[in-house]
Amino acid sequence: MVTKKDCTGCGACYNICPKNAITMQVDEEGFKYPVIDKEKCINCNLCEKICPVLNKVNSNTKETPEVLAAYTKNETERSSSSSGGMFYELANFILSTQGTVIGAGYDEEFNVVHKIINTVDNLKELQGSKYVQSDTNDTYKRAKELLKKENIVLYVGTPCQIAGLKSFLQKDYSNLYTCDFVCHGVPSPKVWQKYLSEYNRKIKNCYFRNKDSGWNCFSMKIVLENNKYKRNRMTKDNFLRLFLNNYSLRPSCYNCKFSRIPRVADITLGDFWGVEGKYLEFNDDKGTSLVLVNSNKGQKLLENIKDQIIYRENCDLDYAIKCNPCICGSVKQPEKRKEFFYDLDKMKIKQLANKYLTKQNLIRRIYGKLKRVIK
Ligand SMILES: Cc1cc2nc3c(=O)[nH]c(=O)nc-3n(C[C@H](O)[C@H](O)[C@H](O)COP(=O)(O)OP(=O)(O)OC[C@H]3O[C@@H](n4cnc5c(N)ncnc54)[C@H](O)[C@@H]3O)c2cc1C
Repeated sequence: MVTKKDCTGCGACYNICPKNAITMQVDEEGFKYPVIDKEKCINCNLCEKICPVLNKVNSNTKETPEVLAAYTKNETERSSSSSGGMFYELANFILSTQGTVIGAGYDEEFNVVHKIINTVDNLKELQGSKYVQSDTNDTYKRAKELLKKENIVLYVGTPCQIAGLKSFLQKDYSNLYTCDFVCHGVPSPKVWQKYLSEYNRKIKNCYFRNKDSGWNCFSMKIVLENNKYKRNRMTKDNFLRLFLNNYSLRPSCYNCKFSRIPRVADITLGDFWGVEGKYLEFNDDKGTSLVLVNSNKGQKLLENIKDQIIYRENCDLDYAIKCNPCICGSVKQPEKRKEFFYDLDKMKIKQLANKYLTKQNLIRRIYGKLKRVIK
């Protein structure tokens, strides 16, 4: 069995078990891990044979991807997407062919879960990044059923979730398209639920990437009952700060095996950070996607949406990686991560942020003051 430190919680083993002997159980940090019921287990070892961490994933992707900067021509969808709205265009195309899109949305309690949609009306549910580990549940099994019925399927997820899907399927389906994203790591659902509960109000919606103050300085927007809302800039919001400072991430994220080139998915999306330094025509602060085309299938998919997007081909991969290191690498684990999770049950999110991020606070305050003095 894979070690706890390396298990990504993708759920491939849970989906493959012929005896339903595996359940995904939440640990004290709030992440799900597989647990085997020895009574039901028949020792077929399928779970180990398809684990994407223990086995090489056959992804059929290129050694060096094509790199594009792009955004949708649809201004409304661009403004409600995390970067340039490329996911919207890819999904819209798949749905227009009567296909199915599987990606992350919310359940009624704002837990992040993978959902299956068939209509453009439901696309809103999947749009936008949710910086919390999504529960794939039984979506690998359901994707396989759809693929066998010759449905066209676009499955979107973290690199480890796409690796899990490909391992689970064990064969290449010509009607499957996969899309992952540049991934900083996935925060704990427990930290997320604690953060939400501290609003002490009924939540109506959550947006991790509100662009009212621009793409470069995005905000967390929480819509409360009566449509009142709170909007905190990324540098002020305690959930985003703990995420961006790597405290709340899953242990496997610090040594990610799938954040690499060649990538696992047909297409990889990300924020094209650094456009202002090289591709000035994309520097309008409304959001530009980095698009890595990793396979022929990815290329085919992209060709179908070219009329709907503004794009530039042949961008510089090394420059993109320099500005966005998570394209092929993991973030560093903070020294006090263990202590942070130990405190999680005892302290409020704000207290945790104050305790673990004070040094950064101080540096930012001094830097801000210096900037004001110089001005
Ligand atoms: C946890 C996480 C970490 C990320 N880290 C980085 C990073 O370090 N650098 C970077 O450039 N980009 C990162 N991204 C990607 C970025 O936020 C945008 O999703 C990407 O630029 C695509 O934007 P878009 O406008 O095309 O699509 P969007 O409208 O943002 O669509 C996002 C797609 O991702 C899926 N998705 C959203 N949340 C999750 C989730 N929790 N788990 C699985 N799938 C999900 C949705 O279903 C949708 O299909 C991260 C995304 C997530 C979810």
